[in-house]
Amino acid sequence: MNSKRAIAQLLQHLSGVGVTHVPRVEFPKPVKPAQKTESTARGVAANTTADGVSAKDVTKPGRKSSKAAAVPEMRRPTSGLRSVEELKVTDADRPEALAEVQGLLLQELTDTQQKHDALCSLAAIVAKCRRCSELAATRKQTVFGVGDPNARIMFIGEAPGADEDAQGEPFVGEAGQLLNKIVTACKLRREDIYICNVLRCRPPGNRNPLPQEASNCREFLDAQIRIVQPEYIICWGAVAAQNLLNETRAVGKLRRQFFTHNGAKVMCTYHPSYLLRNPSAKKEVWDDMKFFMLELGVELQ
Ligand code: SF4
Repeated sequence: MNSKRAIAQLLQHLSGVGVTHVPRVEFPKPVKPAQKTESTARGVAANTTADGVSAKDVTKPGRKSSKAAAVPEMRRPTSGLRSVEELKVTDADRPEALAEVQGLLLQELTDTQQKHDALCSLAAIVAKCRRCSELAATRKQTVFGVGDPNARIMFIGEAPGADEDAQGEPFVGEAGQLLNKIVTACKLRREDIYICNVLRCRPPGNRNPLPQEASNCREFLDAQIRIVQPEYIICWGAVAAQNLLNETRAVGKLRRQFFTHNGAKVMCTYHPSYLLRNPSAKKEVWDDMKFFMLELGVELQ
């Protein structure tokens, strides 16, 4: 038995005897299996793009087009959720890590089945969560996440709305329909992407997540990122961008560049809900997606 498995079993045992919280620990960045870099068909539909770059080229991570844009580096965000300027939540306000979640992250997570199983276990933990008392009292269900457990690309949105709360899946309402159109226009397939939110419960009236709620739910977002190990993350909207990247700037200042988080390249753009209210911003999002797809070796018109 390797040490990780032994520790995972110990944590599960502790959880079973009533020890539900353990001190927060940092995990080393997981090493991506070599096989993933050879995988095909995830993330890009099998089409030839307008400039003649084939899907075969873009489905191999790390194989960039000569047209690929430069990737500026920024400071790596420190661990844990640090509040943005207007969201005064400190690490001291963050709940203690759950032993069950910590145990999941110590398991082997190198293939799709292992990741699928870990996500199912995590979803079951989330379904019981009542850290945000108001949200837990008003939600129909938790909205965990959906998509390929081994996805190259992860989308992070803000929080479930009424449709998502009813169906238990992120981005299924009007904004989700628009997101689907963007995905298709980019020659991607929704089922190849892993999609989740900053919050897993619907804020009443679709209000913005409170800082403490984002802090409460951060452990689950971090765990989903660590399990899926995406190569790319797109933050849709300010709540996702600022929370994930510990940023204070508006989305307009974060667009058209890549940040790094847990080994993934992160791009920020406007939330589809914003586009529904401000259709003129669709051009900016399309520019962002062209910038993003060029990184994958696909030149969109
Ligand atoms: S939003 Fe997240 S932390 Fe808050 S109750 Fe729901 S699952 Fe728990």
